[in-house]
Amino acid sequence: MDIVLLGPPGAGKGTQARRLSQTLKIPHVSTGDILREAIGDGKSPLGREAQEYIRRGELVPDGVMVDLVEERLRRKDAAQGVILDGFPRTQAQAEALSTLLKRQGRSVEHVLLLDVDVEELTQRLSGRRVCKGCGAVYHVNFNPTKESGKCDRCGAALIQREDDREEVVRERLKVYERQTQPLIQFYKERSVLHPIQGQGTVEEIFDRLLKIVGRPH
Ligand code: AMP
Repeated sequence: MDIVLLGPPGAGKGTQARRLSQTLKIPHVSTGDILREAIGDGKSPLGREAQEYIRRGELVPDGVMVDLVEERLRRKDAAQGVILDGFPRTQAQAEALSTLLKRQGRSVEHVLLLDVDVEELTQRLSGRRVCKGCGAVYHVNFNPTKESGKCDRCGAALIQREDDREEVVRERLKVYERQTQPLIQFYKERSVLHPIQGQGTVEEIFDRLLKIVGRPH
């Protein structure tokens, strides 16, 4: 089953995608995580190319992203489907994804659109903190760690993503509106779009998603 999580930055795509992946036992493919890992590496050409775009809150060029996803979809663990988080983000990417999946006799089955108002998105992103060690995500007010600045799971230090700074967040929200929002219509026309109220507890939202994709037996 191939699922796309769509929604603005801060809508909770990563959190929900991780849960869906555990429950449905299909891999979570976050293009943002893949790029950040490549940057962290310090040596990879992909990381070097992506770094400046990410820092500015802009999108990495479509060609780079499509190659990256094509490569990921070819891996064995992706044979039964994937949960895409942060891809596609443009119409060209959405078209390329359809082509890639079609080659394997597959198609996007569900597009889960997480709907959250702009004020809440800004609050969520500005207070978001990420563990340097294991990638766990926290929020200074809504989901704080037991010990300040230290991950509950692995004890590593928490950091603020560079692109969660206020000026960059504003740019990312604009980019979403301009380049990604048109995908709502794209997937609506293909009858796979499911708008979901993205405010509430993580559990409540997860339940809404499971109602659409179905609980595994
Ligand atoms: P995310 O973690 O999904 O918020 O992604 C962080 C940043 O990575 C974005 O602001 C973009 O600069 C870049 N990025 C991630 N996915 C894509 C994509 N599908 N197309 C272009 N840029 C992307």
